[in-house]
Amino acid sequence: MNLTGFELAEVVLPLREPFVTAAGARRERRVLLLRADGEEGVQGWGECVAGEDPGYSYETTDTAWLILTEHVLPGLVGREVMDPREIHQALDPVRGHPMAKAAAEMALWDLQARELGVPLWELLGGSGEPVPAGVVVGLLPNVDALLRTVERHISSGYARVKLKVDRASEDVVRVRAVRERFPELPLMVDCGASYTLADLPRLRDLDALGLTMIEQPLGHEDLIDHAALQSELDTAVCLDESIRSEGDVRLALQIGACRVINVKPGRVGGLGAARAIHDLCRDRGVPVWCGGMLETGIGRAHNISLATLPGFTLPGDLSESRRYWERDIIDPEIVLERGRVGLPAGTGICVEPDVERISRLAVRSQAFGRSARFIGGS
Ligand code: MG
Repeated sequence: MNLTGFELAEVVLPLREPFVTAAGARRERRVLLLRADGEEGVQGWGECVAGEDPGYSYETTDTAWLILTEHVLPGLVGREVMDPREIHQALDPVRGHPMAKAAAEMALWDLQARELGVPLWELLGGSGEPVPAGVVVGLLPNVDALLRTVERHISSGYARVKLKVDRASEDVVRVRAVRERFPELPLMVDCGASYTLADLPRLRDLDALGLTMIEQPLGHEDLIDHAALQSELDTAVCLDESIRSEGDVRLALQIGACRVINVKPGRVGGLGAARAIHDLCRDRGVPVWCGGMLETGIGRAHNISLATLPGFTLPGDLSESRRYWERDIIDPEIVLERGRVGLPAGTGICVEPDVERISRLAVRSQAFGRSARFIGGS
């Protein structure tokens, strides 16, 4: 791969509707987008999924900006040839900060695929077929609003519904209401690490509701209590926040902490690590699915490319662009068709960033190596 430089930009994209989770409400998304420049105008794009606040992990938009601008990107430019599978070696001196690293790693995967003239899904070993789309429903003010929202998503064609729940809300009452209204619906909950083992009676009530899985019920770094919990529940426990590496997956499976893994490339440091987790789980017969982090179309296209690998046997948090955005920053936008989302024919992530719109939304940008700073921002 011929890497000549990068441009990193922060854009502020308004959400179509506020998204409420155990960590709070979001009305807009501050997103870092990264363009990797190759020879002859070839470009690859990555996105950093870190949130505005440290409510999901310690990384935030601002820590990722610092790590990328001070430690990651200066160390990558000047390396004329780099395979994205080897980039983790170049990033070893930077401990932690997987979301910042993943933004660079994913941009290089896109760049390499475009230089080779192949789609990213092919480079990763996927099928490129449209994948079943799942939708996430945030915390809503009451049961009626929840039922109306779920009904709307089902009639749009989504293949499964995930409800965000929180031990401070009427979790069991609400989930039971959805289950009673839609008895056949593939339904799961995401607890966002908000429960403890002392909540076992409530978790047993959720266990009785025929859910496909219960995601991250306990502490965001915990494995051992999850193993105790999984042994008490019939429903599969799925881990999200607790899985930060392939090593975490090995440990979690070894001690029986879960039966399903939510794979987010940003959380584990990029597509290479995500694929290694996929391979490990596939060898062990453990299903995986692709989680979401309120990505723009750039991150979403990366996720869909990954989710076409054969071990992604469960619908992911892969919804269409308009689920979150009035208007996405890619062309064409991701659309839902017969319950699936797919990518058009093309190379790399198979969609083109709308650079004019990105430039209008940018609030800051910085260039590295021989790249020009053209996204703009103050
Ligand atoms: Mg989650």
